[in-house]
Amino acid sequence: MKNSLIKIMFFTEILKGMALTFRTLFKPAVTRRYPKVKVPAQPGFRGLHALAKDNTGRMKCVGCGLCGAYCPSQCIHIYTTEGEDHNKVVDRYEIDVVRCIFCGFCVEACPFGAITLSEHYEYSNYSRDAFYMNKEKLLGNWDKYFEGEKGKQYFKKFWRPLTEDFKGDPAQAMFSKIPGKEKR
Ligand code: SF4
Ligand code: SF4
Repeated sequence: MKNSLIKIMFFTEILKGMALTFRTLFKPAVTRRYPKVKVPAQPGFRGLHALAKDNTGRMKCVGCGLCGAYCPSQCIHIYTTEGEDHNKVVDRYEIDVVRCIFCGFCVEACPFGAITLSEHYEYSNYSRDAFYMNKEKLLGNWDKYFEGEKGKQYFKKFWRPLTEDFKGDPAQAMFSKIPGKEKR
């Protein structure tokens, strides 16, 4: 009773709080002023999808459907028709991004390096339609998020560790750490 009376009289709890405030006032901030200060995406970050283009600006996708077959969320929908030269023509390529779990299987499954996951993560919207990506939007994402060298480096770094990266820095090849799969 006496102790709590002293605390009330001398505002000890308030003084303790102020002391804590002053102690931390001049320390570097541990938070960021998002969205003004953004967190840079880490290498291999799996953000919004994009359909890759080749050097001539043509869509790389040939409509084989492997990405859709591997997708655990079944959110990739591809519609093709047969072209004049009996090759498939991709009429529609759509991803329901709301259902995507960003596992990256589509990227790993694609034998042509045609589907990618960009570093872009700020795409909240009030409309569900905005998250339904069609072919045109996905190709536009390539232009927006993979311009210049970024597009070229994307596949080398993260998605082909058993081929190109195995010849490079061994520390970068994740499979070299699996017992029995050491680099020879
Ligand atoms: S990241 Fe995974 S869930 Fe999303 S579209 Fe690709 S395979 Fe499907
Ligand atoms: S993105 Fe790749 S795996 Fe998917 S349909 Fe196109 S070529 Fe095939």
